[in-house]
Amino acid sequence: MNSPTMKCPVCSKPIDLAGADATTGETAFGAREVDPTKGTRLFHEGEWVYFDKLACRTKFNIAPARYLPPKAQ
Ligand SMILES: [Zn+2]
Repeated sequence: MNSPTMKCPVCSKPIDLAGADATTGETAFGAREVDPTKGTRLFHEGEWVYFDKLACRTKFNIAPARYLPPKAQ
């Protein structure tokens, strides 16, 4: 079984991937929906970035470059 350790890029807490997938896309009405603009993950530059909570996702969304390592080009 491949179980990569993922951490929140904002606060460095470990992320429960199953939980993140389960809660991703919770709408205002509590329904589940797969939507890259909702939930505890974010589709950023071709990759899913996971967060431990929505507050961290919001912070990341404001300034992604601040939380991601610089890319080698
Ligand atoms: Zn976090």
